[in-house]
Amino acid sequence: MSLPDHLAESDRKAGFEVRPNPPQFSQMNDVFTRAFWDDRVKTPAAEAFFASYRMEAAPRRGDGFTQRDFALRNAAWLISDMVSERRAAEGVREGFQGAIRDDTPVAPEQVAPRAPETEAADIKRVARLFGADLVGITHIDPRWHYGERPDVRTMTPVPNDLPDGLTHVIVMGHAMDAALVDTYPSALAGAATGREYSHEAAVVMQVAAYIRNLGYKAVASMNDTALVIPYAIKAGLGEYGRNQMVLTPEFGPRLRFSKIFTDLPLAVDGPRDLGIKAYCDGCDVCARACPVKALPFGAPDFGEEVSAGSPSTNRNVRKWSSNAEACFGYWAKLKSDCAICMRVCPFNRTYAKWHDRVWRWLATGRLGVAGRRIARAWAARWPRARLKPRDWWAG
Ligand code: SF4
Ligand code: SF4
Repeated sequence: MSLPDHLAESDRKAGFEVRPNPPQFSQMNDVFTRAFWDDRVKTPAAEAFFASYRMEAAPRRGDGFTQRDFALRNAAWLISDMVSERRAAEGVREGFQGAIRDDTPVAPEQVAPRAPETEAADIKRVARLFGADLVGITHIDPRWHYGERPDVRTMTPVPNDLPDGLTHVIVMGHAMDAALVDTYPSALAGAATGREYSHEAAVVMQVAAYIRNLGYKAVASMNDTALVIPYAIKAGLGEYGRNQMVLTPEFGPRLRFSKIFTDLPLAVDGPRDLGIKAYCDGCDVCARACPVKALPFGAPDFGEEVSAGSPSTNRNVRKWSSNAEACFGYWAKLKSDCAICMRVCPFNRTYAKWHDRVWRWLATGRLGVAGRRIARAWAARWPRARLKPRDWWAG
């Protein structure tokens, strides 16, 4: 089946090289799902990792991994956990392994349609009102959707269905706390992740409820249902980095993303050449910093360099891919999420200070190769150093 022209054109603008008619990725093969059914990932250390989120088996081993650090991290996850656990008895872990249910019905009367540009501008205003830090809009594209998801009662595959007639995807970015991210690796830093999942659950549900109240369909989604990275790039929010994250001009890689599938007619944003990928091509700071060498040093490929043979790698797109088993194995060892590769990325800045904005101006190619060379030397001279967790607690 040939790709619709509008998707082929946006692939070209995004620099995507996608195999023709790619099979949809199964969420059964996501490494976090495999941690519940695949003995190659479902190790005692992985089980202790999940138990630590319930304050069970939380290790006490020094600065950043004390009971106080785990207590804050787990409290940060609380609202996200409440959403994800409310339909567990039906086999759905909302926001992670299944879309978030419609908490409000679609209003029987639809508002009169307006110009797609007006509607898109209003949706962005509403998303920011509820707390989104970035918002972009793109066309729906089933190539990025999971072909199946797990029933979390049995960890067996079930269809990953969406309602018919959905046309657009609203992608929202949620910035993580910069100081907490500076403490990676630590359980304390995991509070930055948990806070944003709890935050994004509220934002995505409220924006979806607004759209349903207008009389249109809206499916609220966090990590479930579809790969958000290609959608975020297509919506113009950033470019793909060697560290497997979307690098944005505003926050670098320091974000989580949520999305809403809708039939509300909206004007779309296009992918943008921000000069970030060009910087990444000549940088390997994250790959060198990874303690288990799970990130590639070479050019984007179809998953050959560090993830050959892994079912968790999507081989339909030419991109940088990680060794997901090695990465998650390190998380299991830490009993918390690792994002060293987020912390050390030179794009991880708040951009509140003028010198950070000058660095970005140089790094993103406004002076071409020479500017990137200066920016790389600058980043090497002043790397993003780790903040000791006890210093975070000391304020
Ligand atoms: S999260 Fe940690 S272990 Fe995984 S790729 Fe990044 S630095 Fe490596
Ligand atoms: S550390 Fe360097 S290579 Fe890695 S994502 Fe950031 S800019 Fe790209």
